[in-house]
Amino acid sequence: MNLILLGPPGAGKGTQAKGLQERYSIVQLSTGDMLRAEVASGSELGQQAKEIMDSGGLVSDDLIINMISSRIDQDDCKNGFILDGFPRTTPQAEALDKMLEEKSFVIDHVIELKVDDDAMVTRITGRYTCAGCGAGYHDEFQKPKENGVCDKCGGTEFSRRADDNAETVRSRLEAYHDQTAPIVSYYGDKGVMKSVDGMASIDEVKGQLDAILG
Ligand code: ADP
Ligand code: ADP
Ligand code: ZN
Repeated sequence: MNLILLGPPGAGKGTQAKGLQERYSIVQLSTGDMLRAEVASGSELGQQAKEIMDSGGLVSDDLIINMISSRIDQDDCKNGFILDGFPRTTPQAEALDKMLEEKSFVIDHVIELKVDDDAMVTRITGRYTCAGCGAGYHDEFQKPKENGVCDKCGGTEFSRRADDNAETVRSRLEAYHDQTAPIVSYYGDKGVMKSVDGMASIDEVKGQLDAILG
């Protein structure tokens, strides 16, 4: 089963993709995570992407398309994948269609997480992850059971993304409305898209997704 999760920054795509990955044995392909790994490794690609990511803009379509195309070819994607953060522009959506045809894949579900802009700033500025295992948390909405200790791995070190600040969030929301929102219509027009209420609790969204995926 291959899925696309759509939605603005902070909508809950990563949170839900991690759950789906475990429940359905499919792999989460987050272009944001891949880019952050490139930045951390100091690769040429990472160096190209870093400044754009820090400013809240979108990295070039060519770079992203090549990155995801070679990732989808890897063995762990054979059982299915969840695209999280890709496609983000109309050229990316078109390139994905071409890629799927060439590689003989199909996308089974395109699911939009619908959320209010107002909620995004709080979601993003309160987001942090476990430095050990990458589990996601939120200052208000998803606290670890024991304060300062990761539920998943017991780690006590956490990190916040450099771009998760109030200024960059505005640019990211702008980029979403200008460049990504049109692909919601792209998939809507094809009649393959379903929407879930991303303003509901994490558990409720999970339930809505399971109802769609069956
Ligand atoms: P995205 O991948 O779409 O950018 P995330 O999954 O990283 O978004 O979620 C952003 C932040 O909001 C995280 O800190 C996460 O814990 C929190 N979050 C995710 N889904 C919900 C929800 N339904 N309600 C409240 N907070 C949520
Ligand atoms: P979020 O879901 O919180 O917006 P991501 O982790 O998906 O954040 O992306 C972080 C940054 O990486 C984006 O602001 C953008 O600069 C870059 N990026 C990620 N995916 C793409 C993409 N498909 N196209 C262009 N830029 C991307
Ligand atoms: Zn952890």
